[in-house]
Amino acid sequence: MKYIGAHVSASGGVHHCIDNALAIGANAFALFTKNQRRWQANPLESKVIDQFRRRCEAANFSAAQILPHDSYLINLGHPDAEALTKSRDAFLDEMQRCEQLGLTLLNFHPGSHLNQIDPEACLDRIAESINITLEKTQGVTAVIENTAGQGTNLGYRFEHLAQIIDKVEDKSRVGVCLDTCHTFAAGYDLASTAAAQATFAEFEQVVGFEYLRGMHLNDAKVTCGSRVDRHHSLGQGHIGWDCFAFIMQDARFDGMPLVLETIDETIWPDEIQALRQLAAKQNA
Ligand SMILES: [Zn+2]
Ligand SMILES: [Zn+2]
Repeated sequence: MKYIGAHVSASGGVHHCIDNALAIGANAFALFTKNQRRWQANPLESKVIDQFRRRCEAANFSAAQILPHDSYLINLGHPDAEALTKSRDAFLDEMQRCEQLGLTLLNFHPGSHLNQIDPEACLDRIAESINITLEKTQGVTAVIENTAGQGTNLGYRFEHLAQIIDKVEDKSRVGVCLDTCHTFAAGYDLASTAAAQATFAEFEQVVGFEYLRGMHLNDAKVTCGSRVDRHHSLGQGHIGWDCFAFIMQDARFDGMPLVLETIDETIWPDEIQALRQLAAKQNA
């Protein structure tokens, strides 16, 4: 079963996400559980938590279909000790919000070395941040998103993801989310069926599909290897439909949130429907 959706608005409270997902024909969704551009957030109110849980149940959204995304401000590999602590505290808060909402995945960008420490040391810090947070929480998997490799962001090579996972103590609670735009921008070709096949074979070899917990389905405004993160609507960028057809027809992407972060949300219902039609051919 393919769980297909988009990153929907939580404006007015996270419990509104369910209706926003249903309105676009989604059976998966991503959300921010707090304002993603601010450090501080009020705790989730118990009535919002209740509403969220109740609406998920009524609409048949299990935790496996929901991929919360953490704040953009968090850098779990920050070179500065004080800033690192601030990020770790904020990440713990994000995980605890997921626990409260009954969610089991938390998607985050690994971190940036800011040209102040070497990439290896930064990857070690990220793994240590994950270990510290997993020790203080239960039931939520830390889902590392691959990046486009813009600026000093790490996580653009599959090897970076593997290196982080290698140093995480509880392997049952660490996973990966692959963003197709980021993958492509980082230099992994996805612009044909054969290219997608080869790229995911490399992912299988370096990381392993057992760690894949979700996907961000985005086309790219930029070319392969540009190391710039610019999403586009499906089929309108340099990746094209072949890659998305490949994903929809491959069982290794079953049972996890497949989430659009494409730029024109007015066509999300059409994009979701087109993906479903491709998925229907999987067993045909
Ligand atoms: Zn992301
Ligand atoms: Zn992106």
